[in-house]
Amino acid sequence: MSMIRLYTRVLELLGKEARLGWILAVANLLLAGAQFAEPVLFGRIVDVLSGKPTGGPLASSSAWPLLAAWAAFGLFTILCSAAVALHADKLAHRQRQAVLTNYFEHIMQLPLTFHTGTHSGRLMKVMLNGTDSLWRLWLGFFREHFAAILSLVVLLPLALYINWRLAVLLFILCVVFTVLTTLVVRKTYGMQSEVEEHYSDLSARASDALGNVALVQSFVRIQAEVQGLRFVADKLLAVQMPVLSWWALVTVITRASTTITVLAIFTVGIALHEQGLTTVGEIVMFVSFATMLIQKLEQVVSFVNNVFMEAPRLQEFFNVLDAVPAVRDRPDAIDPGRLSGMVEFKDVSFSYDGKRPAVEDLSFTALPGQTIALVGPTGAGKSTAIALLHRAFDPQSGFIRVDGMDVRGLTLTALRRNIGVVFQEALLFNRSIADNLRVGKPDATDEELRIAAGRAQALEFIERGEQGFQTNAGERGRMLSGGERQRLSIARALLKDPPILILDEATSALDAVTEAKLNAALDEVMKGRTTFVIAHRLSTIRHATRILMFDNGRVIESGTFDELVAQGGRFAELARAQFMVQENARASIQTPEPDSTVVKI
Ligand code: ADP
Repeated sequence: MSMIRLYTRVLELLGKEARLGWILAVANLLLAGAQFAEPVLFGRIVDVLSGKPTGGPLASSSAWPLLAAWAAFGLFTILCSAAVALHADKLAHRQRQAVLTNYFEHIMQLPLTFHTGTHSGRLMKVMLNGTDSLWRLWLGFFREHFAAILSLVVLLPLALYINWRLAVLLFILCVVFTVLTTLVVRKTYGMQSEVEEHYSDLSARASDALGNVALVQSFVRIQAEVQGLRFVADKLLAVQMPVLSWWALVTVITRASTTITVLAIFTVGIALHEQGLTTVGEIVMFVSFATMLIQKLEQVVSFVNNVFMEAPRLQEFFNVLDAVPAVRDRPDAIDPGRLSGMVEFKDVSFSYDGKRPAVEDLSFTALPGQTIALVGPTGAGKSTAIALLHRAFDPQSGFIRVDGMDVRGLTLTALRRNIGVVFQEALLFNRSIADNLRVGKPDATDEELRIAAGRAQALEFIERGEQGFQTNAGERGRMLSGGERQRLSIARALLKDPPILILDEATSALDAVTEAKLNAALDEVMKGRTTFVIAHRLSTIRHATRILMFDNGRVIESGTFDELVAQGGRFAELARAQFMVQENARASIQTPEPDSTVVKI
């Protein structure tokens, strides 16, 4: 993206506040205009005073109006600057929060495939740094950039008009500045992008280590992780240093130019004065012009510098903002309200890479209340089939209908409101248990929470805690055991009370008591709902209305447990092997319920 396009986009993000932004920028421009009055008046006053005998009445009568004008301009400038600065600050802060919230909403809607490929630490860094950059550039625009650029446009012709010979010096100054800045910008742009890339790596790495702090500590990796972070930080500094040196050089030259230009104006001015080509007042005026010009040039240089320094950061921000969710609401999508839970897959095929199908020609119908178990080896396409149901992706061919309606014709919110998911890894917020349960039903009363927790076999352990429902679950639910997390996740689904339920069973083995409790909780949550289970437990498969045996993206066998065993195919083979495991397990751990043994398929 070119710099101009990037900057325009920064301004466009002001959105509804853009008008106020422009008003502030124009107000600032007027202020900048008013500032020119000072050197002009200064020069005129010097001329008036130097041209008349000191103390004479004439001198004061000509100087007073000039002084009064100066006072008026001064007062105007002070009041307006204060008003502009205050409003500009407020506006930039307001807009930063608005853009940050929009960005957050946007990334939350992006498909899971995007999130699996992008570290959350990086996304956080891009969000915070990107909005900070925007804030700085907006503020700069309202307060200085716009006015600084336009004042140059006014100042140079004004100087030419007053005395072209002295104005030439100012032009030379401008050219030197422009050439120098362009050179430095060209030289440092690539390096600055690299710096930004390292910053993102740094954030991703730090948050990765923090998210796995238990692993880091138990494998005595603290030093190694710190070393890893230091390594990235060192690389970052190695690229950052030359950029800083280049810009320091610009500062040195800027300072030097100020002195040289002022000296040049005096020298040339004195020579011109001797030839009667300028007045003392004009020399004073041009010295002020030079100071002002350098100040404005510095502002323009710092603006260019800012835009270039922020550009890679903003580019990253815009890249995320431009990522399009794979699945979006159609303009004519409808909200059908609560569904009864009939689900139909018809010739559904889907491929992640457009070459190898992850699911191929999948067809089946689930009537309301039925349980469909999906079994098969890892990578067979079970999760993909389920992901298609709640529209993480849309199939490339075939269709999926709920209650006879194509899922693509429903709004995502309506569809997902009707589908509950109990994830394999129970996902919990670092908030209280009550808050985590209310994710299922935001307006649930305390009594409803208790009932749901009771049905999910979770009440006992919740009430054992000193703070009960107010107990914090910890980051990703770390304060709770795996079995407890799963029961909370079931209670959450019970509160949501959807007609369709997706159950991604945990593969890890649980002890017999937890297993029994979990089964009871699952029976409770599956009651009266169309349930799809990615099954690893024999108990769920036994009672399923239909078992779909997946292999290589296709359903190779389908039927009830007994039918499939009688068929003597792949499933029967699998079941036989598992019964053997089960028998062994029963012999070793003496499980009271044969069905409750965990069998990984
Ligand atoms: P299962 O749930 O039965 O283990 P999946 O549905 O996860 O199987 O995977 C089916 C196929 O799709 C596998 O070959 C897997 O490698 C591939 N796959 C799964 N998820 C993705 C993804 N996000 N991007 C690309 N390929 C994927």
